[in-house]
Amino acid sequence: MKILITGGAGFIGSAVVRLAVARGHSVVNLDSLTYAANLENVASVSQSPLYAFEQADIRDRAALDRILARHRPDAIMHLAAESHVDRSIDGPGAFIETNVTGTYNLLEAARAWWSAEGRPERFRFHHISTDEVFGSLGETGQFTEATPYDPRSPYSASKAASDHLVRAWHKTYGLPVVLTNCSNNYGPFHFPEKLVPVVILNALHGRPIPVYGDGGNVRDWLYVEDHADALLLVLERGRIGRSYNIGGENEARNIDLVRSICAHMDRLRPDAAPHDRLISFVADRPGHDRRYAIDPSRIRDELGWRPSVTVEEGLGRTVEWYLENQDWWRPLLARQGVGERLGTA
Ligand code: NAD
Repeated sequence: MKILITGGAGFIGSAVVRLAVARGHSVVNLDSLTYAANLENVASVSQSPLYAFEQADIRDRAALDRILARHRPDAIMHLAAESHVDRSIDGPGAFIETNVTGTYNLLEAARAWWSAEGRPERFRFHHISTDEVFGSLGETGQFTEATPYDPRSPYSASKAASDHLVRAWHKTYGLPVVLTNCSNNYGPFHFPEKLVPVVILNALHGRPIPVYGDGGNVRDWLYVEDHADALLLVLERGRIGRSYNIGGENEARNIDLVRSICAHMDRLRPDAAPHDRLISFVADRPGHDRRYAIDPSRIRDELGWRPSVTVEEGLGRTVEWYLENQDWWRPLLARQGVGERLGTA
């Protein structure tokens, strides 16, 4: 299959690019290369004849039309987005432009291309979204695909809007879409402003490890390589018009996740143990959702997918990766706003 992957220089997109090429698919990576992008993430496949890169912005409709005509993909996997909740609180405009207007542009470009090609049956538009569109849970319950949308942050509201557009393009125009809503990802190549790398890098540098509020916020943690595997499965076998929730079956309170990372740091750097002495509780994020949990039964029962690692195994691999790949993350600390978020500026 020839797959056009938007956002393929980002964290999850690059994992999908690497896995798709490894499985013999042709990949066109379309990315505008924002602060969150890094072509080093795809260096392992960039010389492959199966790989091509197009630097383009999904807000630029003409560029999308040109790229579709040039590469004639069988499928589009749409991951390009502004993705950081804290940044969406500081400056929501970019989130509306990329996540809402950009998705609209891509849908229109895809619809025009698909119609001009005679509406090929095998074409798929796979929209990648988040469980944050469902809002926040109490102590019990899980998000299913039927949970009503209730986004709380500018980020989740922009992703919810994009999900609605994708469904509308299916219902109104018949565009063959599939959607996925996943929980929090972690793993190698995660940009160093997100929780897991912040904890690892601050622990490594002996700096305070910031934990929002009382640390009791609960997330379901999904190893990024498991997520990439689930996404390719949904692309190939998911039912048109359906959405699938993808979770890691790993619910954890933030404070427990942070302690677990510290324990892996203690194992790997016993001289600096105990790393959890660095934990420092900070003022909570405004509108911080308390608990997210995914009911993964649809993807498990319909497509036979389950995560391959527990959060303990995945975190161990991730901590080891960050310690072994300092050349990857050191240059990123100088990028726009990242030092401030890590407490290094
Ligand atoms: P990321 O921020 O690491 O990467 C996003 C990529 O999109 C970057 O390479 C960036 O350059 C590109 N991009 C941004 N704006 C663009 C534009 N206007 N045109 C073209 N490219 C643009 O994000 P991620 O964590 O890899 O997330 C990928 C997708 O998965 C997003 O749609 C996100 O909403 C969704 N998601 C992420 C998580 C998570 O835990 N990271 C969880 C649920 C859903």
